[in-house]
Amino acid sequence: MSLQPVRGTHDLLPEEARRHRRVEDTAFEIAERYGYGEIATPIFEFTEVFARTLGETSDVVTKEMYTFTDRGGESITLRPEGTAGVARAFISGGLSQHLPLKVFYRGPMFRYERPQKGRLRQFHQVGVEFLGVSDPLADAEVIGLGAHLLDALGLEGRVQLELNSLGDAESRAAYREALVAYLSRFKDSLSKESLDRLERNPLRILDSKDEGDRRVVADAPLLGDHLNEASRAFFDGLKRGLDGLGVAYRVNPRLVRGLDYYCHTAFEFTTDALGAQGTVLAGGRYDGLIGQMGGPATPGIGWAAGVERLGMLLAEAPAAPRPLALIPMTGMDQALALAGVLRRAGFVVDLGFSGNMGKRMKRANKLGARAAIILGEDEAARGAVTVRDLDSGAQEEVALAELEDRLDRFR
Ligand code: ATP
Ligand code: MG
Repeated sequence: MSLQPVRGTHDLLPEEARRHRRVEDTAFEIAERYGYGEIATPIFEFTEVFARTLGETSDVVTKEMYTFTDRGGESITLRPEGTAGVARAFISGGLSQHLPLKVFYRGPMFRYERPQKGRLRQFHQVGVEFLGVSDPLADAEVIGLGAHLLDALGLEGRVQLELNSLGDAESRAAYREALVAYLSRFKDSLSKESLDRLERNPLRILDSKDEGDRRVVADAPLLGDHLNEASRAFFDGLKRGLDGLGVAYRVNPRLVRGLDYYCHTAFEFTTDALGAQGTVLAGGRYDGLIGQMGGPATPGIGWAAGVERLGMLLAEAPAAPRPLALIPMTGMDQALALAGVLRRAGFVVDLGFSGNMGKRMKRANKLGARAAIILGEDEAARGAVTVRDLDSGAQEEVALAELEDRLDRFR
């Protein structure tokens, strides 16, 4: 039996788990301020939910999905991202009665990728989806929420927002034609993968990481030059909204998103602090998605953020709460009972199960305990304990009847 975790997965030990929790809780707290409620969709779905929506040529569908046949013969896929599941839930739950709908999600995602720093096979995302509004100011609000989260995590000034417009279907069709005409002149220099995509989904070539492709793409026509009037007005509206919110951005005319369902707005918050895996929060508008899945035509905009990547950017791991250390010198029975009473009264209590006074005091210091409660024999006879403030060193005897009140300042 191999006792290694599966490649690309890892155990979240308490310190790292606290980083994750800080990211997730901050994200939810801020999303709630913007009117979002939490949604939790299943971790697996029928394979079609992803295969038919993310795009048959997307990286995720062609090579990253964890797909298996279950015992009933159904093709099942572990979710590689959150939007398709939310869209499926929207349709199957008949939620179109509840538009506009704002939902927040968190949880593990699964992609078969080459593991490296900031890139795992099981990773975690927090994300938001805003359904039912096609106003560009909704895009500004959603991006503003992302910026707000990053600021709240202390990342102000360490991330940049890149923004682009993919236009509407008409603009993309016009652009597609210009792009294919251009790329066709460089067939010799394109990677095999990009040649495959030339007919099926040429826009994805702009996102290629291949060196040769990148050289060709550097001089390719720009989507921004092919936007029709309506698409340009939409993009202008978004930029005005962001200006009004004081959210700084850089227009990156080459930014395209890896998944197929996006239109108009595409954006990414990136950092230099994580090496190659620099995108921490990314998203866009997906007006065609729900209709394409067979639901009522419903516009949508959202983003997802990588919890591991954001957790690594936190200056330090949030500290565990400082406990009160119970130090029994008499017997464990009384100590266990007292620990129970104090915990029910809301105190964080550490109870060591072995060691002499010296060892136990060492442990108390290591845990950063606020105070030690020493249960000595003489005090016990008087119905009291000794409380030592471990920050000041001050020590006093306290009657058990008054203990909770006297410990109040250590909450
Ligand atoms: P990348 O270009 O890094 O592969 P992506 O475009 O595939 O990212 P999205 O699908 O937009 O990523 O997911 C949103 C966020 O989730 C990313 O910006 C990143 O922070 C995080 N993320 C995506 N894939 C992984 C992974 N394999 N491991 C850890 N985090 C990830
Ligand atoms: Mg990816």
